[in-house]
Amino acid sequence: MGRIVLEKVVKRFGEAEVIPPLDLTIEDGEFTVFVGPSGCGKSTLLRLIAGLEDTTDGRIVIDGKDATGLPPAKRGLAMVFQSYALYPHMSVRKNIAFPMKMAGMDQAEQDRRIAKAAGALNLTDYLDRKPGQLSGGQRQRVAIGRAIVREPSAFLFDEPLSNLDAALRVGMRMEISELHKKLATTMVYVTHDQVEAMTMADKIVVLRAGHVEQVGSPLELYRTPRNTFVASFIGSPK
Ligand code: ADP
Ligand code: MG
Repeated sequence: MGRIVLEKVVKRFGEAEVIPPLDLTIEDGEFTVFVGPSGCGKSTLLRLIAGLEDTTDGRIVIDGKDATGLPPAKRGLAMVFQSYALYPHMSVRKNIAFPMKMAGMDQAEQDRRIAKAAGALNLTDYLDRKPGQLSGGQRQRVAIGRAIVREPSAFLFDEPLSNLDAALRVGMRMEISELHKKLATTMVYVTHDQVEAMTMADKIVVLRAGHVEQVGSPLELYRTPRNTFVASFIGSPK
């Protein structure tokens, strides 16, 4: 589960058409990266998928069901926010448990999911710490843990590493890729960093002014960029 289909999705803010009619299929289990310059609509597109923004027109189909009008909590997806979205006064355990507590899940099931997420993210020894007592990378892992416990059919990431320093970013990139292999769950990952796109993606979607310029594997885009915009973004010599 985790196939996401956008059918002629349009988003306008007032007069501004930020996303012109856009068609895109994200296959189940795929690591899909949206890249493009600042302001091209990456976050808007992710927020439309998450249900944090309403579509102006078109349909969003998740696992064969029309999700267009559904609120975020009913879509079965989890958005990973940057680590600064953690609650500083709560322990790691409570931060991770928060969405389950809100959903009224029973304690035994909460504990089982926390243990599983902490194991997958190497956080088992840090569950009783507060976010302020963790490194930047550990805080980012807690933010991911909070998404994992919801057992979503897809994870949505919006530039999750942009507030980490360069060395940490490299490590977290590899950790997220490993997590994708372990969970085999669809991940949609937004970045303006072409190195992240090239190293993490199964499929890259290059966006420009709200439309899809090209879709392909990192190698396909590198070898056969459709135009100089894609070539310059992907760093190929065309
Ligand atoms: P990116 O994430 O690629 O940097 P965004 O999706 O944040 O781009 O923004 C795309 C365009 O939509 C920008 O021109 C931005 O100013 C505009 N935009 C985004 N959110 C809103 C909003 N809530 N109201 C009006 N304009 C918005
Ligand atoms: Mg953005």
